[in-house]
Amino acid sequence: MKKLLIIISVFFLNKVLAQPTPALTDKYVLVIHGGAGTILKSQMTAEKERAYQAALNQALDAGQAILARGGSALDAVEASVRILEDNPLFNAGKGAVFTNEGKNEMDAAIMNGQTLAAGSVAGVTTIRNPISAARAVMEKSPHVMMTGKGAEIFAKQQGLTIVDPSYFRTEERWKSLQKAKAGDSLQKRKKDSILKKTTAFSEFYDSPLGLTGKYGTVGAVALDRHGNLAAATSTGGMTNKKYGRVGDAPIIGSGTYANNQTVAISCTGWGEYFIRLVMAKSISDMMEFGKMSLRDAAHEMIMKRLPALGGDGGLIAVDKDGNIALPFCTEGMYRGFVKSDGSKAVKIYKEYN
Ligand code: ASP
Repeated sequence: MKKLLIIISVFFLNKVLAQPTPALTDKYVLVIHGGAGTILKSQMTAEKERAYQAALNQALDAGQAILARGGSALDAVEASVRILEDNPLFNAGKGAVFTNEGKNEMDAAIMNGQTLAAGSVAGVTTIRNPISAARAVMEKSPHVMMTGKGAEIFAKQQGLTIVDPSYFRTEERWKSLQKAKAGDSLQKRKKDSILKKTTAFSEFYDSPLGLTGKYGTVGAVALDRHGNLAAATSTGGMTNKKYGRVGDAPIIGSGTYANNQTVAISCTGWGEYFIRLVMAKSISDMMEFGKMSLRDAAHEMIMKRLPALGGDGGLIAVDKDGNIALPFCTEGMYRGFVKSDGSKAVKIYKEYN
């Protein structure tokens, strides 16, 4: 009897061990953004439009190459974001906006949807690619978030490229700071008139989403062929920010979130509102506990609750089944996606999808 039991056990054990590891699917999806804001065709030159499109395509191609060969969503989102960080057109890495003190202080975050591991950095001024520092925090430290000098020392120890702060400077962003300081912004005037200058807030900030040059946070979300999700966001924050202000991008659950059970999300917009709405995690919860579709949950948050609170912006998202959403309540959002089924698009202006 004992022998028989052993034979039966071995038989079943072999069966279990013989189960193939989950096969690599063919399906992958990558979505990217280069910031939301007052992006009007009337204010864009054909040459600039082409430059933005080329940059977005380059970022998509880099991430897609990784996903197509069975690489991880994490590697893909980091690769796409690094390209956008290196491009001075966007408010992340080189080309980051200036603080009130005339510095470039950057925030970034990355999250692995398979493990819920996450890493972020805030207020860094010398790390060439903040997104890679965020990844190092996630993978090489027991922490989730590091700020300022400490984050920079850690990044250097990890062998990341450290640059002189002047590397991030661009003339266009410098001019935007001067404009913002002079209060020469339509957005500010709009906010001021809405708020009737009754809050201190309008004195401190110019919207990050105002005129040309003030938007451009970058981000990427991906579903890889293993079924894993990841999200990454990197930003210079808001022009004219003061007092060590940190936005939503490096706050896990606000500007960046990924969970294999639901969705991967990267946000762009007026960070204070995204933090207060716990934007990305709220959408994940609406999907997980409220059984809402990605499209409905993202629409509810971006098109209704965000403007209702007085904020604006947009996001990119891909859910566990590969559905995507790119809602925004601003005039435009630099954005693009590529899927394993061959579909690919890069868009700038309003055209909800
Ligand atoms: N969300 C960013 C921040 O508030 C800004 C942006 O997306 O343009 O820091």
